[in-house]
Amino acid sequence: MKEEKHFEAESKQLLDLMINSIYSEQEIFLRELLSNASDAIDKYRYLSLQNPDAFPSESHQIRIDRDKKERTITITDNGIGMSLEDLEKNLGTIAKSGSKEFLEKFEEAKKKDDMAIIGQFGVGFYSAFMVADSVEVLSKPIDGDAHLFQSEGKDTYSVEDAEAPFAHGTSIKIHLKKDEGDRHYGDYLEDYRIEGLVKKYSDYIRYPIVMEVEKVSDDDKHTDKKETELKTLNSMIPLWKKNPSEVKEEELKEFYKGKFGDYEEPLFASNVHVEGLYSYQALLFIPSHVPYDFYSESYEQGLSLYSRGIFIQDHYKELIPNYLRFVKGLVDSDDFPLNVSREMLQKTPEMAKIAKNIESKVIAELKKAKKNETEKYEKFFGMFGDHIKYGIYSTYGMKKDDLQDLLLFHHLGDDKLIDLETYVKDLDKKKPIYFASGKTLSEIKLLPQLEKYKKEGTDVLLLDKNIDEFCLMSMMEYKEHPFKDVSSESEEVSKEKKKELEDLSVKYRRLLDNLKESLTGKVDDVVFSSKLVDSPVCLSTKEGLSMNAERVLKEEPGEGKEGIKSTKVLEINPDHALFTSLASIEDDEQAKSLGSVLYDEAMLLQGYEIEDKAGFVAKINELMVKAMKK
Ligand code: ADP
Repeated sequence: MKEEKHFEAESKQLLDLMINSIYSEQEIFLRELLSNASDAIDKYRYLSLQNPDAFPSESHQIRIDRDKKERTITITDNGIGMSLEDLEKNLGTIAKSGSKEFLEKFEEAKKKDDMAIIGQFGVGFYSAFMVADSVEVLSKPIDGDAHLFQSEGKDTYSVEDAEAPFAHGTSIKIHLKKDEGDRHYGDYLEDYRIEGLVKKYSDYIRYPIVMEVEKVSDDDKHTDKKETELKTLNSMIPLWKKNPSEVKEEELKEFYKGKFGDYEEPLFASNVHVEGLYSYQALLFIPSHVPYDFYSESYEQGLSLYSRGIFIQDHYKELIPNYLRFVKGLVDSDDFPLNVSREMLQKTPEMAKIAKNIESKVIAELKKAKKNETEKYEKFFGMFGDHIKYGIYSTYGMKKDDLQDLLLFHHLGDDKLIDLETYVKDLDKKKPIYFASGKTLSEIKLLPQLEKYKKEGTDVLLLDKNIDEFCLMSMMEYKEHPFKDVSSESEEVSKEKKKELEDLSVKYRRLLDNLKESLTGKVDDVVFSSKLVDSPVCLSTKEGLSMNAERVLKEEPGEGKEGIKSTKVLEINPDHALFTSLASIEDDEQAKSLGSVLYDEAMLLQGYEIEDKAGFVAKINELMVKAMKK
């Protein structure tokens, strides 16, 4: 029985866009359908290895048939096939989450007339509607009946029972649109066009893609009747099985775009062949933009896993550590046992060994890029640098030696990024690497604690990412240079200066005590320091949590944040005019009432919110009134 059904709302929207947009890369429809066919055969082959009785082993191919009169192209595979439910689920709805993002991106892209975005979102099948005004999908799973799905890509599709001329598989027939102006959809019926597209996008597909083509022979010249032959259009050698020296960078990039459905070329591509105790081939890529769903739950990390050229699984997490989750690619090894379950495979020593090796390959490639392709590397680091830092932090510094030289930081010296090696280059042995941290670069640059370093011309790393400080803390030191927060209380001063500060605190003990008393619960101490140049006060922290770390931890989602508290010290600049006035206050109560103003001032200077804004304003007003009365 034929049933008419409505596309779900989002599919409908997508189809509208597909049909109505000028899509500059229409030709990729063929790549998308061939790659679906190849995936379907992969799935069949995998099941066949697991259960040869239910899925008898056979030879596989993808066939392209054309009917020039009817203007149809049919792509048939003997893969896993689809049941009625599969047809509706897979083709009637957008199975993937992220379709909403896609639609938004699409609107954006349309404005820029940049339609090349489609492949990225797994809307593969729908791409047929860019060239077709109707599509028929006849499909049969090995253990079920055949069904026909039909749609003009408008509001509805229909499904009905059908007979299939094959035991299992799928046949997709597309009815090409009429030619219109310079859009010659009919070209897709020509030998040269299809052969060219297969070579360009689908050459590596490991099953023969066959098509009847005109036979070129001398006899043809004399007869009208053209002879045809069944021709295999693709070379079938997976790119990663070819000798790396024979694979062009361009091919790698095209492969990436097709396999991972990205509309942009990868930033880095590498072709790895390892022979040894464990042998494997891998193609590894780093995208040149952050994947649209990278920070959502729907992002699937991991590499595609192949064994002896047979596809096993996409997004295999065990092949790449979490902190390198942005790496895309595939790994093929003869050493992966095929007769064990996916769960068992995870635990094999081969897997761990190869994963380790891949990790070090990625690190080595990044190091090379940092040295030789600075601009590209900086782009990479801007996108994924926090993940490298996370790699150091999340392993408690264990990966420090491998990863520390990949880090880049902003610094006080100039607007360029520097690495740690550059920072310590002219530094005396064991001297600290200074850093200042905060929410944004501009806020950090205004920190009162930096005044001294600016005056002396000492360089300071400026950490504006939440992970930065935690990363450095887990490293402890870099080549025997300890990291030192400019906002920590301790200060290296000359003997004379130390004595001077001590004398001052003896002399003004009472003032300091009054201030301290008025700030009970907020600061642990009030002291004089020589850190400041222009600012009257600043807040530093004692050993342990810094104010910035306190902020970051409190911003993290979760309960029980009460215990997170840095131990703060209010530091006073004895050379500031404000102090001279403070020093002359005789009245204890008056001194105490000023404590909170100084504290709030320091908080503001350092880019923090103050708790009692109304109270702060009231105090300032009171002081102004007093000043004006005088
Ligand atoms: P994607 O291939 O990115 O998942 P598509 O819209 O192209 O998105 O396909 C949706 C789903 O339909 C596929 O994931 C697959 O399960 C199923 N499918 C598509 N083509 C075939 C085919 N030739 N054989 C079997 N299943 C298919």
